Amino acid sequence: MAQNTVEDSPKTPVTLLGLGAMGTALARAWLAAGHPLTVWNRTAARAGALAPAGAAVAATPAEAVAASRLVVVCLLDDASVDEALAGADLADKDLVNLVTSTPGEARARAAWAERRGARYLDGGIMAVPPMIGVPAAGPYVFYSGSAALFEEHRAALGAPAGARYVGADAGFAALHDVALLSAMYGMFAGVAHAFALIREEPVAPGELAPLLGSWITAMSGSIASTAEQLESGDYTGGVVSTLAMQVAGQGTLLRTAEEQGVSAELLAPYLRLMERRLEAGGGEEDLTGVVDLLRR
Ligand code: NDP
Repeated sequence: MAQNTVEDSPKTPVTLLGLGAMGTALARAWLAAGHPLTVWNRTAARAGALAPAGAAVAATPAEAVAASRLVVVCLLDDASVDEALAGADLADKDLVNLVTSTPGEARARAAWAERRGARYLDGGIMAVPPMIGVPAAGPYVFYSGSAALFEEHRAALGAPAGARYVGADAGFAALHDVALLSAMYGMFAGVAHAFALIREEPVAPGELAPLLGSWITAMSGSIASTAEQLESGDYTGGVVSTLAMQVAGQGTLLRTAEEQGVSAELLAPYLRLMERRLEAGGGEEDLTGVVDLLRR
């Protein structure tokens, strides 16, 4: 008799609430991986569109929740979770909340789920919808909260995107998620400023793009050295470009913005923090001291 393989074992049934851009991508990935899937969406047409692909469509959130032990929520925000799950019986359910939230909201939602008899896992999705179900694109989700829930459903959770558990504190997935997103917006801010500088010049954005990309990649090495300095408490170890030198160069950046008719409103706040650290005596450091200035 043939041995059962992992591929042969039955796939965990999943209920998914929320079929926006992200929820629909998740739904299609679970269906493609062979998981029985029950879906609910406030606007019914979006759920109906998944029926031909094999999804069972529930008429209400309560009906969807009742269909599977593993219940995944991918609604717009924390308030919509309240609204959608108000009438659902969560006793003995494994609730996975993929809504982008703050660490505090995630912890409150975990306590809320526990009071209603559910195990809880919070998730922060590090991907955009076209990356879901495409392992080569590197999508993953941070998870935090119930380790038992994570271990039990690791295979199902890992079908649409990689699954990274970051701790029992339900707020940690959101903390990691928002830390990465915040860094991303800092990068977008710098890139917007760079494109604005060339906008009125005969330099094609398409020419600058690969240069920007490779420069940012090269500079990303500083992330690891910043972490080392924060952990050691010595901000002067291994410094290549001193803060004193970098602040001296700020005028060039600001005058160039002025010459090009570009607002420095994205750049100036960061440069001001560098100056403050220099004024406080950090001239021999690199940029790590700015982290401490941000702490309130
Ligand atoms: P969309 O705006 O595409 O979809 C929002 C979903 O929430 C829809 O299903 C909508 O229903 C539902 N919804 C909104 N308000 C309510 C409510 N009050 N009650 C019930 N349902 C409601 O968002 P996404 O799918 O893109 O995002 C979902 C979550 O995933 C968000 O928390 C987002 O931050 C996160 N995420 C999204 C990423 C992305 O690139 N899209 C990336 C990483 C995370 P209806 O169809 O009826 O309007």
